[in-house]
Amino acid sequence: MASSSFYVTLEESHAILRKVLPLMSEQRVPTVPENYTVWYDYVSGTNEGLAREIKRMVDDGDLFSPEVCRSIYERFYLEEIRSEVDGIQDAVREAVQTVLGELGELGEDIGHFSSVLDEAGESLKREPTPEDLNQLIVKLAQETRRTRERSMEVEGSLQGMASELSELRAKVSALSRDSVTDALTGIANRRAFDEALARLIEEATEENRDLCLILADIDHFKAFNDTHGHLVGDRVLRFVAQEMAQCVKGKDVLCRYGGEEFAILLPATPYTGAIMLAESIRAIIEAQIVDTAEGEEIDNVTISLGVSQLSPGETTTTFIERADACLYQSKDQGRNRVTGERDLDQRARQAE
Ligand code: GH3
Ligand code: MG
Ligand code: MG
Repeated sequence: MASSSFYVTLEESHAILRKVLPLMSEQRVPTVPENYTVWYDYVSGTNEGLAREIKRMVDDGDLFSPEVCRSIYERFYLEEIRSEVDGIQDAVREAVQTVLGELGELGEDIGHFSSVLDEAGESLKREPTPEDLNQLIVKLAQETRRTRERSMEVEGSLQGMASELSELRAKVSALSRDSVTDALTGIANRRAFDEALARLIEEATEENRDLCLILADIDHFKAFNDTHGHLVGDRVLRFVAQEMAQCVKGKDVLCRYGGEEFAILLPATPYTGAIMLAESIRAIIEAQIVDTAEGEEIDNVTISLGVSQLSPGETTTTFIERADACLYQSKDQGRNRVTGERDLDQRARQAE
């Protein structure tokens, strides 16, 4: 996309980040990846329209609520993707029309060639003179050459078109991948999660099947950033994402749910299965050692988890809230643990 953040040096990107974080916290902007993108681009000045808009809002003292942040992100990033997709659609339409046109013309040329051949057949029946034969051969040779040249031209342009189309296809799949992938960890993003959640709740309800949700949050993550710097924080995020990705399979949907939070949707999985999976993810992450890029060992990385099971007829909000309440209880009871909804304190349940 329009951002040129790939071309800044490590020092420049550090300098930008040092400004981004205090600014986000001053404006009370939630620290989710989409908002990082917005504020990083704002500070680095890579997106003029965005910079103007944010400056105006800051000057006016507007509040950056999660909804406002989301709408800024959609306006400046997702709509850009949409217009790129529209451009690609036009290019594909044009390519198809050109190919059809060329094929139509080639069809006419071949039709003409075949009528020349018919005529030649007829004239051979009329006992031609050597002179007639000579003319006929010259004409057939000319027509054959012309038709061959035309079909070679068309073949060339079809080949060009095929490579153009495959480039377009690659662009489209990269774009659709970008729009559902979290750039830092490579796993699905929140947008993909929201879509999957709606779809899986519908399926589970229709087919009367289990659906469980695990929410996980890295323990004392702020401390990794504070002690080792943001880049090490990012490394820890990638590590947790990779470990979790290795634990899920098939139709499970793993995503980065927020800054240092992850979610897994488990279709057709009973409650006890989801608890077991959560527990094994917790244990695997606790058992691994994470290094900095320089090989320095990072203090034990652990996560806290909460597990909810979809109740019959339930919709998104309470399903997520229950997993969140469980996660909160895991934090409250000392972190590095799993809480399932059946273990929720009465007090926490009432607070829901
Ligand atoms: P707790 O155990 O209660 O979860 O404590 P915590 O420190 O993990 O939680 P808190 O919510 O206080 O801090 C989360 C931190 O995550 C704050 C934010 O700066 C950081 N963060 C969020 N997204 C990113 C990211 O993409 N990269 C890095 N390096 N840090 C991030
Ligand atoms: Mg945390
Ligand atoms: Mg958190």
